[in-house]
Amino acid sequence: MTKYISTRGGSEKISSAAAIIKGLASNKGLFVPTEIPKLPLTIEEMVGKDYKEVAFTVLKSFFDDFSDEELRYCVDSAYDDKFDKEEIVPIVQAGSAHFIELFHGKTAAFKDIALSILPYLMTTAIKKEGIDKKICILTATSGDTGKAALEGFSDVEGTEIVVFYPYKAVSKIQELQMTTQEGKNTHVFAIRGNFDDAQRGVKSIFTDPSFADELSKKNILLSSANSINIGRLVPQVAYYVYAYLKLLEEKTVKAGEPMNVVVPTGNFGNILAAYYAKMMGIPIRTFICASNKNKVLTDFFATGVYDANREFYVTNSPSMDILISSNLERLLFHLSLDAYGERNKASEHVAGLMTALETDGKYEVSEEIKKEMGMFVGGFVDPELTLKTIQSMYNKHEYLMDTHTAVAYDVYSEYKKHVCDDFETVIAATASPYKFPASVAKAIGIDEMTDDFEYLDEINKVTGVKIPSSFADLKERPVLHNRVIEKNEMKNVIRESLDV
Ligand SMILES: *Cc1c(COP(=O)(O)O)cnc(C)c1O
Repeated sequence: MTKYISTRGGSEKISSAAAIIKGLASNKGLFVPTEIPKLPLTIEEMVGKDYKEVAFTVLKSFFDDFSDEELRYCVDSAYDDKFDKEEIVPIVQAGSAHFIELFHGKTAAFKDIALSILPYLMTTAIKKEGIDKKICILTATSGDTGKAALEGFSDVEGTEIVVFYPYKAVSKIQELQMTTQEGKNTHVFAIRGNFDDAQRGVKSIFTDPSFADELSKKNILLSSANSINIGRLVPQVAYYVYAYLKLLEEKTVKAGEPMNVVVPTGNFGNILAAYYAKMMGIPIRTFICASNKNKVLTDFFATGVYDANREFYVTNSPSMDILISSNLERLLFHLSLDAYGERNKASEHVAGLMTALETDGKYEVSEEIKKEMGMFVGGFVDPELTLKTIQSMYNKHEYLMDTHTAVAYDVYSEYKKHVCDDFETVIAATASPYKFPASVAKAIGIDEMTDDFEYLDEINKVTGVKIPSSFADLKERPVLHNRVIEKNEMKNVIRESLDV
């Protein structure tokens, strides 16, 4: 059976169900499988399978302590008519790339794919582990995770969900999506600080034993819906597997021929899922890690130095305004394991790097690991060019991208200019253009308007692209959550929310 261990070592070795419930390892490391499983079928055998079947196969490989029946229940409950496309993740060709559209779920961003299934995985895991505590999901969000998690966990029996987002650093639509959330178990707070502050706060609450004790006495267990949770990450592997199978089915690639993957990256979860797909057996050549002006990852892949001590920019791709990319820790662990061949050495190296990050905001990986990083290439775009890219793609190909997807397309175009590489390329299209309407409208030449909702109608009029159905009544819904708190109040508002 596949067991889960901490990236920072130690003796903790637990089942996938236990890792999904726990979220973060006791020593602040992230849970990783002792070995990334291979696909149980050949790629030829998998061609033609629909999304749910592919998702089932991937989940079953990682979460083999779940029964087939349990996983089918999770997959069937998640990937249904909550998605406005039957294929769940349609693949659309535009310009020189294939866009895997991950934004057809309830909140119009890619996080729906994983957060539609996480509540089912979690409640199933709780039953399997015989836990009779209430689970409290703590989530820090740069805008999209929060709503997708609220939507997923709203009124799920035996759970409470508390979401923290950076005040004034999310779009109006993202904010309204969260503050109008219904469900008696949902709690939403804006915090004065940026996403990194919110994430740091949540992580430190998770690893605070006295707080865990206090809640445990009240029969409450904390867990996470952030991409540090392995139950968030694994469902994302499925769409990279699915994308390759589709390219094969359409004869865009020949069997065995590799593809490139471009991912607009923030916390490094989505692109790490692509790496897991490769480790499972999908031929991926290069991982192109696209950043906005907060280009800490671009610099990292160029130099091996991760340096978060730099100015933080608020950009028009806010879901990527991040300086501490949590999931990079998992990649470092896997690369260290390849470099040193020994789990202890790998986790020791990673733990050292993470300590340096916490104390100095900076680390440099070893020469051995630099050698392993070659399949990753980074690139970045500033906000002005992002808008130009949206405009030129729309003008040339009538394909309307959101700002995050445009960052990816632009970084990919730069890559193509400099690297002789004709491999088919799949770009993770992570949000609907309607999720960031002011920027998209500006890009395609719509005059400035007073609020986001006017942009929705105007973009629709100009482009004919359908407005996501969940946005229709957003403006009319009552705001149910309006608290703005300080960074040091997080614990207290959790207590309040849980009534303890
Ligand atoms: C969260 C998000 C990203 C970044 O994904 P990571 O997994 O954190 O790297 C990119 N684009 C959009 C629209 C997002 O919501």
